[in-house]
Order: sequence, then C-alpha cells, then structure tokens
Amino acid sequence: MVASGAQAEYDVFCSNGQMPPPFCSLLLSSIATYHTITLAMGMVSIVGLAATIAALAMKGPLFSTAPTFVPMYPPPLPPTGVSTSRTCSKCGRTNLATDRFCANCGAPLS
Ligand SMILES: [Zn+2]
Repeated sequence: MVASGAQAEYDVFCSNGQMPPPFCSLLLSSIATYHTITLAMGMVSIVGLAATIAALAMKGPLFSTAPTFVPMYPPPLPPTGVSTSRTCSKCGRTNLATDRFCANCGAPLS
C-alpha cells in the first residue's frame, strides 16, 4: 500500500519534471520512510490527500470484515393503521390495503 502510493507520488512528481532528480531518487530509495520524509519536508495538500486516501484504503477491509461494525438493523416493520387496512368511506368496512375496491359495497378505495 505504501509502496504503491509512493510509486504513484513518484509518477506525479517526477514524470513531469516538477521535482529535481535528487528528490526523485530519494523518493525511490526511501519508500519505507516516505511519509515521514515528506511530512518533515512540509509537503502540503497533495501529500496529505494521498495519505488520507491510503489510510482510508487500509481501513476499508477492517470495517468490511469486522462483524462488530456491521449495524444490526431490525427487520422493517409493516406500517400500521391506515397503511395496512383501508376503511370504506361509504359503508365503513375495513378492507386490505391491497384491495382497490371495497369488498362489501364495491366502492373504490383511495
Ligand atoms: Zn364499502
């Protein structure tokens, strides 16, 4: 992860000539301490962003495999009251919510 991230940084900084060659060779030869060096050098924004992305990428598998982080939502409860039954406005009979017409008088249920 760190190596690939450093390689990506190397491509960004060195392939287009923004950084002097000594920096690039240092970057390649010190991948293990890459983040420490760049932080000490006061590298800004893009390095911090890369570190953040790397940290998130490393956290991802932990969250996806740890069962304690899986939220246990209760099964959705069926809605109650008017949503599960329809009362006919003409005769007052209670019909199923799936019914479109009153089972007693045939009036349309809305
Ligand atoms: Zn009815």
